[in-house]
Amino acid sequence: MKLDLLVIAAHPDDAELGCGGTILSHIARGYKVGVVDLTAGELGTNGSAELRAEEAAEAAKIMGLAIRENLNFRDGFFVNDEPHQLAVIRAIRQYQPEIVIGNAVSDRHPDHGKGAQLVAKACFLAGLKKIETYLDNEMQAAWRPKNLYHMIQSNYLAPDFVVDISDFWDTKMDAIYAYRSQFFVPGQVNEPTFIATPEFIHFLEARAREFGQSIRTRFGEGFVRDKQIGVNNLFDLL
Ligand SMILES: [Zn+2]
Repeated sequence: MKLDLLVIAAHPDDAELGCGGTILSHIARGYKVGVVDLTAGELGTNGSAELRAEEAAEAAKIMGLAIRENLNFRDGFFVNDEPHQLAVIRAIRQYQPEIVIGNAVSDRHPDHGKGAQLVAKACFLAGLKKIETYLDNEMQAAWRPKNLYHMIQSNYLAPDFVVDISDFWDTKMDAIYAYRSQFFVPGQVNEPTFIATPEFIHFLEARAREFGQSIRTRFGEGFVRDKQIGVNNLFDLL
């Protein structure tokens, strides 16, 4: 299946937190969007890999993803080496996305910066036809996505552009709350980790409002990219 937009991120819930509104806004415009999670998030203090997989499937349904799969790399310990790059290359060639969104280029959780570098490298290498990969015993065609953007996660990074997600904020939060084991849900007992507190949800909203305010909308998601932004039509800019 060919996708328009593919999010490839370290942990199930990174996509929802970092770019859930952007995913929803593009699905609403008719684009096909998928998520490939690199790990099952098995090192998370609350919940388990199994529970997280159920939650990720529920969030995928809420967002209307065309596909969601998990590469089952080791949470916390995956590295940016050839076997991991080949696995990501295989996914990129399988779904042939025009745009890839990866993790934040640097962040509090070391898997995020590491995931960003791994995905950046795989996006480039996937376009080299002399790197051979196979799916169901068939050699895959080379494919390089047109653009790679990086989400902004816990640490503040100045965005290169901001997507208006005002109409999708509530559904983004529904998708985040699908991860009942990870976030603060009143009446539920979770260990109060960095993300399992009411403050974290306030922080998420504050960040989205700040990015939204910067483009004069209610809510926004910011992105970083490694090259200049080009436009054909000045009227496409908000
Ligand atoms: Zn994460």
